[in-house]
Amino acid sequence: MKHLRVGIIGDPVEHSISPAMQQPALDELGILAVYERWPTTTEALPGRIASLRSEDALGANVTAPHKLAVMELLDDVTPLARRIGAVNTIISRHGKLTGDNTDAYGFSASLTSRFPSMDLGRIVLLGAGGAARAVVLALETLGAREVVVWNRDRAKAERLRGELAPDLLRPIDPDVESLRGELANADLLINATSLGWHSGEHPFPLDLLDEIRAGAVVTDLVYRDTDLLGAARARGLGAFDGLGMLVNQGARGLELWTGKSAPIDVMMAAAVTERARRA
Ligand code: NDP
Repeated sequence: MKHLRVGIIGDPVEHSISPAMQQPALDELGILAVYERWPTTTEALPGRIASLRSEDALGANVTAPHKLAVMELLDDVTPLARRIGAVNTIISRHGKLTGDNTDAYGFSASLTSRFPSMDLGRIVLLGAGGAARAVVLALETLGAREVVVWNRDRAKAERLRGELAPDLLRPIDPDVESLRGELANADLLINATSLGWHSGEHPFPLDLLDEIRAGAVVTDLVYRDTDLLGAARARGLGAFDGLGMLVNQGARGLELWTGKSAPIDVMMAAAVTERARRA
């Protein structure tokens, strides 16, 4: 019997954890499919997307730098993916390609699985890039009341507010003192900047965490144990990294490709193992 195909499209894709968590999940569901790495340059993108129209293709994940460029090559893009401004999942059905974005779902599922009854009154969001956009839409759906946005380029934070959620977002100046003033009232602090992949790298001086009230939670979209999370934990704050978001966005993608419920525990265990293998 012929295998179905699904994979990750990006440049590069060698670093991706997706194959390590999607293949065991497909196997667990009994679906005869292979999840592949599809390194794809910008020039090769149209050909790669066209190849997804064949009957044996389930779809694909999309990562940098193609999340935006891929949109015009698809038949349909969901309103959510359009609002976020990025496609991270393509679903192929009878030759028709739909682009979706599962990052907002991934963040939301990760947060609520750990803190199901968390008060989302005041949130401080660091960063205003693609991942921050998905987080804002997740927070909106979860009923957050106010999201303070702190980004090194304030104009980008202002654009985020104007384009996505004028009533929810409140950009502030990118200096440390402006941030300090907001932390005391925060229920949740989210690092959606690119800082944290290397030790010694953090978005602000960590002693600022002394300002956060007991019971608040700190999360990082980076999926390693960052210095920020370590410092939060040392102060008795709730803290969790971005692996749950990564796994849940992948689980949602798997459900869209297969119509079956994703084996989330299998995916999480595989992702944890793969991360440890690379450490
Ligand atoms: P973008 O490039 O779109 O945005 C990067 C953000 O980080 C911007 O706000 C940028 O600020 C800020 N930034 C970058 N460098 C610095 C710096 N030196 N000092 C201060 N701020 C900085 O990236 P993404 O939004 O796609 O990704 C952000 C992070 O989230 C990455 O670490 C990524 O790996 C992670 N991620 C995790 C996911 C998960 O499933 N766990 C999913 C998606 C992303 P400025 O606007 O001023 O340039």
